[in-house]
Amino acid sequence: MAITSVWIEEGCIVCNACETTCPEVFSVTEDSCVIRAESRTDGAEDENDKARSPLTDEISDESSDAIEEAAEGCPVEVIKFAGS
Ligand code: SF4
Repeated sequence: MAITSVWIEEGCIVCNACETTCPEVFSVTEDSCVIRAESRTDGAEDENDKARSPLTDEISDESSDAIEEAAEGCPVEVIKFAGS
């Protein structure tokens, strides 16, 4: 599956697992997890739960498997994604 957008819903417990699995996309802060600006077409850096900015083509091509793995490994299941 090619993932085209990924976002974080409320409830992140800042466990760092997603950043360990896919540091190109996820950055864990003091109180949440954000989608890195470099991985998004809108260049913003936040949870992306409102904008749901698309990922860059490069990230979509190279990191879809790792994003899916990170979502499966999130203990509170707050990593959501869309793709085709
Ligand atoms: S794996 Fe889930 S709970 Fe852990 S830092 Fe990432 S989004 Fe937050």
